[in-house]
Amino acid sequence: MPDCIFCKMAAGDIKPDIVYEDEKVLAFHDIEPQAPVHVLLIPKRHIVNLNDLDDAELAGHLLQTAARVAAQLGVAESGYRTLMNSNRDGGQSVYHLHVHLLAGRRLAWPPG
Ligand code: 5GP
Ligand code: ZN
Repeated sequence: MPDCIFCKMAAGDIKPDIVYEDEKVLAFHDIEPQAPVHVLLIPKRHIVNLNDLDDAELAGHLLQTAARVAAQLGVAESGYRTLMNSNRDGGQSVYHLHVHLLAGRRLAWPPG
């Protein structure tokens, strides 16, 4: 998608602060972190959000990668939150599917 910022990152045209990359997914630090650790994991292929996620293997790979990145960043044992915002009421602002990985402080529940 030509105007999609996360597609540009996946293509290497924009270089985020990458923490993990393979042929299918990219993980990088959020530009506006909401916790001491705030990483976004995206499929390199453009998928708008969970409504359009049609690839179970990719879905599993994204989640397993989130766990691997949590371990890599040293927060697997202290704990972390993974979430996906979908569409308006979910609070989605970038319309390329991404998993948020948040950690490094006690996260409140329920969310606002
Ligand atoms: P959403 O609100 O769609 O669930 O999350 C989008 C996330 O993308 C936000 O946390 C926002 O800070 C992050 N973001 C938006 N633009 C950029 C960018 O150019 N670089 C990085 N690293 N993160 C971005
Ligand atoms: Zn995209």
